Amino acid sequence: MSIQVFGTPVSRGVAIGRAVLVASSRVDVAHYFIGVDSIETEIQRLRGARDAVAVELGALKHELPREAPHELAALLDVHLMLLHDESLVGATKAWISERHYNAEWALSAQLEVLARQFDEMEDAYLRERKADVEQVVERLLRSLAATAAGVGVVAPAPPAKVASDFGGEDPLVLVANDVAPADLLQFKRSIFTGFVTDVGGRTSHTAIVARSMDIPAVVGAREASRLIRQDDWIVIDGDAGIVIVDPSPIVLAEYRFRQRQSELERARLDRLRNTPAVTLDGQAVELLANIELPGDAAGALIAGAVGVGLFRSEFLFMNRGDSMPGEEEQFEAYRDAVIALQGLPVTIRTVDIGADKPLERGSAQEHRHDAGLNPALGLRAIRWSLSEPGMFRQQLRAILRASAYGKVRILIPMVAHLGEVRMTFEALARARQQLDDAGRPYGRVEVGAMIEVPAAALIIDRFLKHFDFVSVGTNDLIQYTLAIDRADEAVAHLYDPWHPAVLQLLHHTIARANAMGRPVSVCGEMAGDADFTELLLAMGLRSFSMHPARIATIKQRVLRADTRQLVAHLASVLAADDPGEALRQALQGVRAPH
Ligand code: PEP
Ligand code: MG
Repeated sequence: MSIQVFGTPVSRGVAIGRAVLVASSRVDVAHYFIGVDSIETEIQRLRGARDAVAVELGALKHELPREAPHELAALLDVHLMLLHDESLVGATKAWISERHYNAEWALSAQLEVLARQFDEMEDAYLRERKADVEQVVERLLRSLAATAAGVGVVAPAPPAKVASDFGGEDPLVLVANDVAPADLLQFKRSIFTGFVTDVGGRTSHTAIVARSMDIPAVVGAREASRLIRQDDWIVIDGDAGIVIVDPSPIVLAEYRFRQRQSELERARLDRLRNTPAVTLDGQAVELLANIELPGDAAGALIAGAVGVGLFRSEFLFMNRGDSMPGEEEQFEAYRDAVIALQGLPVTIRTVDIGADKPLERGSAQEHRHDAGLNPALGLRAIRWSLSEPGMFRQQLRAILRASAYGKVRILIPMVAHLGEVRMTFEALARARQQLDDAGRPYGRVEVGAMIEVPAAALIIDRFLKHFDFVSVGTNDLIQYTLAIDRADEAVAHLYDPWHPAVLQLLHHTIARANAMGRPVSVCGEMAGDADFTELLLAMGLRSFSMHPARIATIKQRVLRADTRQLVAHLASVLAADDPGEALRQALQGVRAPH
C-alpha cells in the first residue's frame, strides 16, 4: 500500500529508488562502503567479534555467583544461542559481501531486519526477545569498535562498480533517523540519489551537506525510518518535502516525468557556466562556492565559481576519536584546495565545532540529550578555538602556510565580542611570528568575520574597523535572532528567513559594510536560495557564496535582474509585515520577460 510521509524539503528535485535504511544504534556506528578487496577482512572482523563475545558471555556465565537467580544463566544461554544463530552473523555477512557495508553498518542493518520480525510476533514473550538480540548486537558492536579501521572523514570512496553490484540498476536512497554531518560526508561521493531523515531542520548541517551533494532530500520526516522498510521503492519529492512509499504506477510515471524535466532544466543552466554574472544594469556579481573538503574545490570551479567563499574546515576535525588533524595534515588540505582554485581566492573558515557539528560521531540530538544543554549557545566556533589556544594557532599556521600557494582569506566564525576580535588577532600575530622564526613562507592573508550573531550585526561598524571583510552567516543569524534551533524539526516551521527582524539585521550589515568600503558577502543558505536573490541585490549585496550546485540557478536570476528597479522597492519590502509577499508583488512589475 502506498503511503506518504511529510517533512521539510532541503534539497530540490525528485529521487526515485530503493530504500537503504541506516539504523541508529545506541553504540556509535560508522557507516561506510568498503572496497571489494576488504570484504574478507571485514568478515574476519565480524567473526573475531563473535568469538570474542562468545568468550565474554561464557566467562560471565562461569563467574555467576552461586546465589544468582537461575534465570540469569538461562539468559546468558539465550544470548549465546542468538550469537551463533545464522540469522544474525550469517545474514550480516551477506550485507558485507553483497552490499559492501562495513561490518558495523551490516550488523545494525541486520538488527533492523530482525527487530521488525520480532515486532510483528503475536506472542508477547517472543516479542520481548528483541531486547536480547539488541543486547547481543550491542556487545558485537563494542567488540568491533576495538578493531575499527579508525575511519575519519576521508573514508574510502565506494568503488565505482558498487552501484552495479547492488541488485542491478536500481538507484538507492538513504533513509535514517538522523545522520551526523560527518557521516553524510562519507556518503558524499557515493551512490545515493536522495535521502530522508526523521529529524533535522532546513539549515541543520546534515541538510547543508545534503544540498552540497546536490541530491533531493527531505528532513524532519519524523516517522520515515520506522515506516519505510529496507528495499522499499520510494519517491523523494525534494521540492514539496514529501516522501511517497511504494508509489502507484500513475504517481511513479508523474514523478519520472518531473525528473526528466528537471534534468533538461539542469542541462540548460549548465550552459551558463562560463557566462559572467552581471545584472541587466551592468552590476558585476561575485558567485563563490561553499565547500566542506579540499576535494570539493575542483567541483566548485567546474560549476563556474569565481572562488571559495566558505571552506568549512571543521569537517577535517570530525570523527577522529581523540586525535586532531595536525598542522601538516591541515596545511596539505588547505594547500590542495588553494592549488585546485588556480589563483582564485579561497576563504578558509577556522574550525566551527559545536552545536550540531560535534567532534564525535553521533547525532546532535543525542549530544543535546546527553548534555541536557543547548550547545548552539555553548562553547562553539571561535569560542572553542580561543579556549584551545595551541590548537587554534596550529590551524592559523596551517592556513597561513597555504597562502604561499595562492590567494587565501581567513574567516572567523561566530564572533560576538570585541574581546574575541582582539584575542583572534593576537593569536594570528603569534602564529605569524612562529612561522617567521621557523623560516616558513606565507603570503598576505585578509581576515574576515562571520556575521551570524545579532550582537555582531548590531555593532557591525566596530567590527569593520578590525576586519578586511565580512561574510553573513544567515543560517545562524536566523537561529539566534529568532531563538529557533536550526536543527530541531519541532520548531522548523518557525525558522523564518523572511522575518522582518532578520532582514533588518541583514540589510544593516550589508549597507554599513558598503558604506565603509569593506567587502561583504552572504555565505548562509539564503545566498543559494533563488527566492532571495533580488532582495539581496536590492540591499546592495554583490558577493554570494553557496553550494556549487546552486551557482547556475542564482546566476540566471542575476542575469535577469535590474538593481535600479529593485532598489526602488526595498524600503517598502523591508517595512512590510510580510516581506516575502511584498517582494513577490513588487517583482511582478520588474521581472524581465523570460
Ligand atoms: C551560517 O551560519 O549561515 C553559515 C554559513 O555557517 P554554518 O552553516 O556552517 O554554521
Ligand atoms: Mg554559522
